[in-house]
Amino acid sequence: MDSGEQTLLVILVAFVAGIAIDRLWRFAKGRGLPEQQSDGADSMHYILGLDLLASRQIDRAVTELTMAARKNTDAVAIYLILGNLLREKGQIERAIQIHQGVLHRPGLSKDERAHALLCLGMDFKRAGFRNRALDTLREVLALEPKNAYALSSLIKIQEEEQDWREALDTLARLSDVTGESNPSLEAFLHDRVGLASVAAGNDAKAAKAFEEAIRIQSRLAPPHLHLGDLRLQQGRLQDAETQWLSYAKDNPRFAHLVFDRLHAAREDGDRLEKMEEFYRGVIEVDEKDWRARLALARMKRAQKDPAAAFELLMEAVHHNPHALAVHLEVWHALVEAGGEVERIQTYLDEVADSAYFIDPYVCMSCNYRTNGILWRCPHCQEWDTFVEERVETVDHN
Ligand SMILES: [Zn+2]
Repeated sequence: MDSGEQTLLVILVAFVAGIAIDRLWRFAKGRGLPEQQSDGADSMHYILGLDLLASRQIDRAVTELTMAARKNTDAVAIYLILGNLLREKGQIERAIQIHQGVLHRPGLSKDERAHALLCLGMDFKRAGFRNRALDTLREVLALEPKNAYALSSLIKIQEEEQDWREALDTLARLSDVTGESNPSLEAFLHDRVGLASVAAGNDAKAAKAFEEAIRIQSRLAPPHLHLGDLRLQQGRLQDAETQWLSYAKDNPRFAHLVFDRLHAAREDGDRLEKMEEFYRGVIEVDEKDWRARLALARMKRAQKDPAAAFELLMEAVHHNPHALAVHLEVWHALVEAGGEVERIQTYLDEVADSAYFIDPYVCMSCNYRTNGILWRCPHCQEWDTFVEERVETVDHN
């Protein structure tokens, strides 16, 4: 499911489950519509529209809901949904018009106003009018301080505005409302506060923010990496190394994230010999780690030890034959060694034995990968969904 569909589903759930049906009937029955009109064709258009929406036939849903809206101009819910669908289809101006139209109606209840404002806020957000979206969402929250959807939308916009502190405050409000915390997001936001503080030259505040992020969710790499960067920048080389090494030790699968930093710092400090010990340690903990082998092979090549480099690279190919980075390193090594036929043969054998996806295809429906084209996906059972999977090439123009 892509993010557009997810957005649509959120809207669908929010409105269908929350207000739409109940509201429509209250409107149709209670607001003085003639009975024959409310029970007739207009509600059929409405129900059909919702059905089409649920099966994601958006254009037909818009047609039906437009007809329902025309025949039942009093029904706020239909207009809100219709506006949301038009927004999802990219017709943002029309969505804004419809939602503003609802807001101009006399006699709206407080929660109708809040919902209409929320929809309008989403329109503004989608249109890129972030300030108007912010103002509108704040209006929603003034009416409904515990509107979780408005709070999470507000966080997204505050992130786009890089108002990390404010996003943290909103996240705290959201957690109070839902009773659920979001430690990853909280940690990432603290990390961003830290980066912003580094850029502003406030090291103490930055360090505090990174440490807070680590305290909240220590498995996330960025705050560890950034705190190390800060220490290095302050000339505290040993503290930087300790920070990175402890992260790598606690998260062996992500140890490679510190390779380049640690390597550069130790190269400057003329202590590169310690890197081999480090890479060997990573391989010992995770024997399939191809990145440590690749990095160590690069070191060996630089140290003019092509035999050791080649051996490490063959192990790396074996553990991940689909990483182009490894093959590039092999080709460099082979060229440097003068194209020895025996090594080339060893390499070819290793690739032929290890690589499954020689000619990779991927299912567009479920991302199932296969070697060669299939006409029916064995994973999601859809027909004609496979496309060739290609590595992106660099555009030199
Ligand atoms: Zn599939």
